[in-house]
Amino acid sequence: MPAPLRLQGISASAGYAEGPVFDLERITAAYVSKATASEEKKALETAIGIATSRLATLIETSKGDAADILEFQIAMLEDDALSHPGFAAIASGLPADAAWRQALDAEIAGYETSDQDYFRARAADIRDIRDQVLRALTEDGEVQTPTGAILYGEDIAPTRFLETDWSKGGGIALRAGSTASHVAMLARSRGVPMVVGLGVAGLGVVGLGNSPADLAGTALLDAEHGGIVLSPSKAEIDAFRQSSSSFSARRDLARIFLTRPAVTRTGTAVRVQVNIADPSDVDGIDIATCDGVGLMRTEFLFGKTLPDEETQYRAYRKVLEWAGEKPVTIRTVDAGGDKPVPGFTVEESNPFLGLRGIRLSLARPDVFRVQIRALLRAATHGSLKVMFPMIAIVEEYRQAVAMFAEEQAALAARGIPLKMPPLGIMVEVPSVAIMPEAFAEVAFFSIGSNDLTQYVMAAARDNIAVAHLNSVRHPAVLRLVAAVTAFGHRENIPVSLCGDAGGDPASIPSLLEAGLRDLSVAPAQLAMAKAAIADVSIQAGPA
Ligand code: PEP
Ligand code: MG
Repeated sequence: MPAPLRLQGISASAGYAEGPVFDLERITAAYVSKATASEEKKALETAIGIATSRLATLIETSKGDAADILEFQIAMLEDDALSHPGFAAIASGLPADAAWRQALDAEIAGYETSDQDYFRARAADIRDIRDQVLRALTEDGEVQTPTGAILYGEDIAPTRFLETDWSKGGGIALRAGSTASHVAMLARSRGVPMVVGLGVAGLGVVGLGNSPADLAGTALLDAEHGGIVLSPSKAEIDAFRQSSSSFSARRDLARIFLTRPAVTRTGTAVRVQVNIADPSDVDGIDIATCDGVGLMRTEFLFGKTLPDEETQYRAYRKVLEWAGEKPVTIRTVDAGGDKPVPGFTVEESNPFLGLRGIRLSLARPDVFRVQIRALLRAATHGSLKVMFPMIAIVEEYRQAVAMFAEEQAALAARGIPLKMPPLGIMVEVPSVAIMPEAFAEVAFFSIGSNDLTQYVMAAARDNIAVAHLNSVRHPAVLRLVAAVTAFGHRENIPVSLCGDAGGDPASIPSLLEAGLRDLSVAPAQLAMAKAAIADVSIQAGPA
């Protein structure tokens, strides 16, 4: 019996899985070369066709994010720019499999070396496309991932995730990967345990390969704390099962909290709102379970083309009508950073410190004014609040407010119904958190702990190698959260928090301790967040 091997990574989706390890990189059947280049070309065309129709079949049973990912992959496969180098390599004498691999590997390398996390995370999609066509070429397309297994490898393709039957358990353990990848997003929304970064120096044991000896037997995946044990001892299995059943019990218990208002153990009420991105996100949420929308990200609307006023107006109106009298805080477009928008954002060497958020909106008033008009019109359909991302100096806020006033006057002159919403700001740049008094004129503050943490700690939010530094619970970050909250309380300016930390049960006690009484969390985290709040003992009101 081999000795237990423990690896530490980072949790991308909390949960526990016990089962056999399935090697994601296992060798597939060999490709049989054809006699002529034209037969090779035909073989590649056929394989691309098979891969495309498999994706189309998968789309039929997918919706939301999953369908978006598959549509993106089909669009890539149908793009001649992607397949052209493969056909060119066939013309120069390579067999179809080698030609396709060479062409796609070059493409993947381009994505992997990008400065932008968004593009690096998309490398997994291109790898997925590469492997699907290779599977079709080798006629090994019917390989089934076993149910209940822990899928182990460098990274995992979104389609592999979607094809896997997770109803009988199982999980994902990756040597690389990213908590910001499409698969991580899917795993969180479906409750599939997932750990990434197991091969990152300083985190896990470097050098674990995928030899049969490494991967034999049962493994224990603790995706609550980001670890995996291979060849566990009896004592480790017993301890693991205890943690796993405690996690399940907490999750089951949390469901009871979902329909109740959030209150701490000592009776302090906490508002819990939800973060959404796509208007369709609200279809799966019962408005009675939350206190409104604390953050609607609008970047999604700016995906492929810049959205016109009507498209935006309809999107905002849908969410406002769903929320009824409850507040909906819509954030003006926060493009840039890790969220590039073709035709809008610019190429930069350091996008997180560049032209993103309000900076870009002010630089492109032609785009910003369209969004402002849509928001002013939509405001008549509910309780809208609007906030600006990445504010660093008060002049940015004043310029944005002036543009709202100008568009208000212009719409009114045309007799178009509108309403001016309260205008607030995100607190995510340290200059605001350090000197909130310079922003005393804003209608409200919403703390963006994802960016605030990365800027205070100088540790990028999606970089696994510095994830140990990127913690909202670092006293330096918490001190700023507490100072902003106290300032808001003194000056009667509402303060909430809409970063991911608000939905993290481990961070909730510290955030409430810092004085916050208003959190906005991902819909999937709503129940666990309320349950975690109910477990906190605090005596006083906001600090
Ligand atoms: C944040 O920075 O905490 C935040 C909520 O904004 P985003 O994650 O969209 O940058
Ligand atoms: Mg942010």
